[in-house]
Order: sequence, then structure tokens, then C-alpha cells
Amino acid sequence: MKGKRSPSQLEACWKEKDMVSGKVSEAMVIIMRTNGCCWAKAGGCSMCGYRQASMNEVTEADLNRQIDEALSKYKGEPFVKIYTSGSFLDENEIPAAVRGRIFNEFSGCERILFESRPEFVTPEALSVLPKNVTIALGLESSDPDILSISINKGFTQEDSRKAGMMIKDAGLKVRTYLLLKPPFLTEKAAMEDTVRSAVFADEFSDEISINPLNVQRGTYAERLWRAGELRPPWIWSLVEVLRELSSKVNARLMSSPSGGGTSRGVHNCGKCDREILDGIERFSFSQDVKDLDIRCECIDSWQRYLESEKILGTAADLDRGFDSDLALGCGKDG
Ligand code: SF4
Ligand SMILES: [Zn+2]
Repeated sequence: MKGKRSPSQLEACWKEKDMVSGKVSEAMVIIMRTNGCCWAKAGGCSMCGYRQASMNEVTEADLNRQIDEALSKYKGEPFVKIYTSGSFLDENEIPAAVRGRIFNEFSGCERILFESRPEFVTPEALSVLPKNVTIALGLESSDPDILSISINKGFTQEDSRKAGMMIKDAGLKVRTYLLLKPPFLTEKAAMEDTVRSAVFADEFSDEISINPLNVQRGTYAERLWRAGELRPPWIWSLVEVLRELSSKVNARLMSSPSGGGTSRGVHNCGKCDREILDGIERFSFSQDVKDLDIRCECIDSWQRYLESEKILGTAADLDRGFDSDLALGCGKDG
């Protein structure tokens, strides 16, 4: 039923697979509507459109009704992931009493994951969390200039590292998100940045999730994309990064790209996208690089794209500037 969004309803809820104690298991994903990310209200990150998933007048009673709705759909999955499109540990989004209820209701599950900005990761906040918690940190990049200029993240890589170490010291787990190809970076520079960032994050991360840029509505990234100033990364770049990192980090590597295979998300020629994304999903569970061994002739276009970027010295979307029959041979995304 379409209509006015209600603050007492979940934004979304679905089931998917994820890892629990080294085994592929069922997970329930809950997207809660909250008052929204504090940083989004102050301008927000350049690629983030989550503002649209939050509201302004969500009360504690509303949040409790959202939990009731989640419980009515819960079928004993061992892993529960709760996203708020912001920070679960921010009192303004999820008050302590509501957090307490969530942990109580899901005390039987083996693993609970939520996200937080590092400023809300404090010894006091950690001291009341159950030991089955994983906190997801959106580090995005370990490069200070990329964090501040390309992403406008509002915290430093050192803030994330400290939060990660504090979480580990408290006996909890960390999943770190990295952004592959923030605005203004060429494909090659973006790949190198993600590899360096993963090596940086490995010290405090149990899992590293690579999120290729997905152009979300109403964002600064969308403005650049519409102007042809940005192309979401190639799937080949994601494959290359995962392949290189598999021998460089101890954390489990994973990637579950939003918008994969579309012009707004990570994409290749269109013919091979699904097959390679499926391979990346298998790799995220197996960690076996053989799952990434998929071929398509568009790998040559990707290589020419990297070379052309270097010669032209631009991060603009070269697919748009050329006809698909010309040098790059890959201009199918409009
Ligand atoms: S990416 Fe995270 S921290 Fe940045 S504005 Fe969006 S929800 Fe807030
Ligand atoms: Zn292809």
C-alpha cells in the first residue's frame, strides 16, 4: 500500500545470507526509520542519500512499534542486522531504553550487527552491549584528503581506528566499510586507495566490506554523475581489488554492491555483470579467488579506460564522452 510514510513502520525488512561463526547462515535485515544521521543534517557525506530513509518526528513509541513489526517477521534467524541509516549508538536516533529492548528481544541470536559513526563509540556505550555484537564502521578511506574533500566524512581515519580498537578491546567484532571510487578519483587511484585503506583497517577489522560507489538520489555524487563528471566503478576494478587484498589482509573480505549492474552502480558491459557479481557473492563467503575467475571481452575496454584516464588526467565519465564504437568500446550507459 503506497501513501504517507509512517514513523512507526520499518523502512524495510528482508532475509538474506551472511556468515555466523564461519558458516553461511540466514540473516534478517531490519532498516529502521529514525530521526536520522546527525552528520546528514549538517550536510552529510557526498554519496549518501539515506536522509530520505529518515524522518523528523520519530518517537520512542514509534521505535517500539517498529521493533514489534520486526519481531512479527522474525523466524529465529541466527544473525540480525539493524540499520538506521545513521548511528545506532546515537541517543537521538535510538534511545538507550530502545537499544536495551532490542538486545533483550534478540538475545537468543548468535550475532547482532549495527552501524555507528566513531564519535558514538565510547567506553560507556560499549560497556552495556552484549558480546554477540558486531559494530559496522564506515571508514570509507584511510586517506585524510579523500575523507574530507571527496567524501566530506566529518571524521578522520584515526577516529575510526581508535573506535575500532576500542570495540576489539571490549571483546566485540568490527565490520569496516570502504567506499570504492569516491568522487574526483580516477578508477586506478580509487583501486589503490581501497587497497591501502583495507590494509590500514585490517588491524581492527574482523570483516572488510567493499562498497563500490552507488549513485543515490539527491546527493552531490548524483550531481557529478548527471554532469558526466563521475562514472561508478567497473566490476573489474572491484574484482582486482578483492584479488589483490586476498593475500594482504586477515579480515574476511566481502562485497554486496547496491545497484550492481546498473548505470548508477558498479557495472561492466552489461552482458557479464550478473555472472561476475554472483562470483563476488560466492567469494564473499568462500574467500576463494577462483570464484573471481570469470572472463568477458570487456576486460579490454576496462584496461583501455584505465589508460585513457591516465593520459587525459581526468576522473570524468569517459564512456559518455565517446561513442561506444570508438576507442573505449564501452559506452552503453546513458
Ligand atoms: S554515509 Fe553515514 S555518516 Fe555519512 S551522512 Fe550517510 S548515514 Fe551519515
Ligand atoms: Zn563484459
